Amino acid sequence: MQQNLLETSIEYLKGVGPNRGTLLRKELGIHKYGHLLNFFPNRYIDRTRYYKINELQNNVAEVQVIGKIINIKTVEFGKNQKRLVATFVDDTGQMELVWFQGHKWIRESLKLNEICVIFGKCTSFGNTFNMAHPEIELMTEHQQSLRSAMQPVYPSTETLANRGISNRVINKMMQQLFVETQAKFSETLPDYLIAELKLIPKNAALFNIHFPKSAEALAKAQFRLKFEELFYIQLQLITKNLIRKHKIKGHPFTKVGDYFNNFYQNHLPFELTNAQKRVVKEIRIDMGSNAQMNRLLQGDVGSGKTIVALMSMLIALDNGFQSCLMAPTEILANQHFNGLTELSKELNINIKILTGSTKTAARKIIHEELENGSLHILIGTHALLEDKVKFQNLGLAVIDEQHRFGVEQRSKLWKKSNPNPSDEGEHIPPHVLVMTATPIPRTLAMSLYGDLDISVIDELPPGRKPIQTVHRFDSNRLKVWKFIRDEIAIGRQIYIVYPLIEESKTMDLKDLIDGYESISRDFPLPQYAISILHGKMKPAEKDAEMKRFAEGKTNIMVATTVIEVGVNIPNASVMIIENAERFGLSQLHQLRGRVGRGAEQSYCILMTSHKLSADGKTRMETMTRTNDGFEIAEVDLKLRGPGDLMGTQQSGVLNLQIADIVRDRDILELARNYALKILKDDAPMQKPENAVLRATYIELTKKKNIWNYIS
Ligand code: ADP
Ligand code: MG
Repeated sequence: MQQNLLETSIEYLKGVGPNRGTLLRKELGIHKYGHLLNFFPNRYIDRTRYYKINELQNNVAEVQVIGKIINIKTVEFGKNQKRLVATFVDDTGQMELVWFQGHKWIRESLKLNEICVIFGKCTSFGNTFNMAHPEIELMTEHQQSLRSAMQPVYPSTETLANRGISNRVINKMMQQLFVETQAKFSETLPDYLIAELKLIPKNAALFNIHFPKSAEALAKAQFRLKFEELFYIQLQLITKNLIRKHKIKGHPFTKVGDYFNNFYQNHLPFELTNAQKRVVKEIRIDMGSNAQMNRLLQGDVGSGKTIVALMSMLIALDNGFQSCLMAPTEILANQHFNGLTELSKELNINIKILTGSTKTAARKIIHEELENGSLHILIGTHALLEDKVKFQNLGLAVIDEQHRFGVEQRSKLWKKSNPNPSDEGEHIPPHVLVMTATPIPRTLAMSLYGDLDISVIDELPPGRKPIQTVHRFDSNRLKVWKFIRDEIAIGRQIYIVYPLIEESKTMDLKDLIDGYESISRDFPLPQYAISILHGKMKPAEKDAEMKRFAEGKTNIMVATTVIEVGVNIPNASVMIIENAERFGLSQLHQLRGRVGRGAEQSYCILMTSHKLSADGKTRMETMTRTNDGFEIAEVDLKLRGPGDLMGTQQSGVLNLQIADIVRDRDILELARNYALKILKDDAPMQKPENAVLRATYIELTKKKNIWNYIS
């Protein structure tokens, strides 16, 4: 019944009105009653306990104190800056209440010498505690207000706080909402799910999330609402995926022919790991169906994704189609080009590379060969996306290190394949394989990349010695340098990496150059040769430096994180990371993955100063404890939350109302399994018992399509 009421514009709620309505819309996206109802607290505070002033501690959680204001004054500080300070006392001492903004109406609303309850966070200055922007309630009001033991705290913004929409005000609005709607809300999950999972009804869940009667009731409400949120997202993701498989045709690569077989039987440079074999099979089956492949290939650094890409491209070739491989940097594209040319040298296929620095003449040949079909595999950077690059029949697009490319670029590649003549002009997109070394826990990956299928290489090639990782302080540099000299003496090469952070490029470059100069003094010519690599160099210079290092002409490579992605130089056995505390865990792991690629024992040395934050310490400990990318990703998730997981370039983080994709992974998995089971049995949600599902689903997708969840 309440559906219509929930569509009511928020300003009509008693106590809101046009001004607050505008604020709620702008600051919190609350336009209608329904939005307010689904605006959930982000935490709860135990308000059964009252503190005395002499019990206060610095900066613990919010506390409440009973007492009275005995004096109010305005204090000037700095230029034209004022703050409002009130003295608050109880029978054990006195403290200060401070406001930096909104003085006029606050001053008017404060009452002297009346018993009230203040609520907020305390900090100490000298011997006095103060509470900034406290919530204040007269004792008489306080006793009357409908307040549960667990006090909800709603997300807020500075503007809201300054304009007087405190948590208490939101709480009152919520009470009003429940009065006007009579606290009756439609059930949104089918009975059998509620029974099977022992969920509480929607009504009870909504009531207890806003006005929890007890911690236990709150926990039940949270579980029910989190499950529901994740469940409907999964339902949408899975449905979308089913539709894609149904609707988007792909070129059916039915043959596995001479190119693939010849390579597999005669030219494999090593035995594939079981994980590689399994993944090649998954890709083969996927490309062999009538649907387009859209697959994410996850594998830790060094797990051997490149050869999987090649074998997939050979299948395309066997079916008469061209392939391309796109890499995020010129260095990487070159490396792929060299590696794939080497791997396929006996196969008699035409592979070329196209980057920003490809000369016009070579470019022209590439364009021609692409269009007449004589070019089989094209490797390159973003240059592949240019309009001039037209394939005769692109059958497979491989994208390496996917987190550097956005969804838009992926879709540009889709359009590169020409209409298949046999299909009378119907556009059939190429199969897409995106490869990433960013280890994302599987359930999380399924939620983040719901539109992709996932293959995982979870096994490293045999014979690799685990990289030994140590953490050293800058004060131990002499010892580290001695270690480097010993390694160079036995023929190894060394990376020394400096952080590069976008905002402070020039400063970082200075760090790098200073480092380079001091390293050059400590490792002088002619005994030692040093390479340098950074983002400000021209591509040709970078490649030349990279080449010198790869050929063993230099002993040390001093670089910024340009080398982070994919570079493969097996003789490099030591990775030194300077200012390691400035890197995130996944980046540290990626950097470490540059060594340990040969048969020799490799080392990673994390250099930091003695000043380390708690997170910094955890990162160093994690790195020295494990080489397992997935374990590292878990810690990273806990430290940073999923929003930062893949760095700033990454898009595709779910924008959730109540569930937390990291903390609620178990619920996510449960929700996904139920969604899968239900759709497998009744994909159009047509069975009578699924009527609620279908109605809610349609309602949700109308309002909030899955892509709105993905920011
Ligand atoms: P990544 O997954 O990081 O892209 P690569 O494809 O660059 O890894 O492979 C890393 C190294 O491991 C390369 O030198 C490659 O030749 C080697 N390699 C890959 N697969 C195997 C295997 N099954 N056995 C032995 N070495 C392998
Ligand atoms: Mg790679």
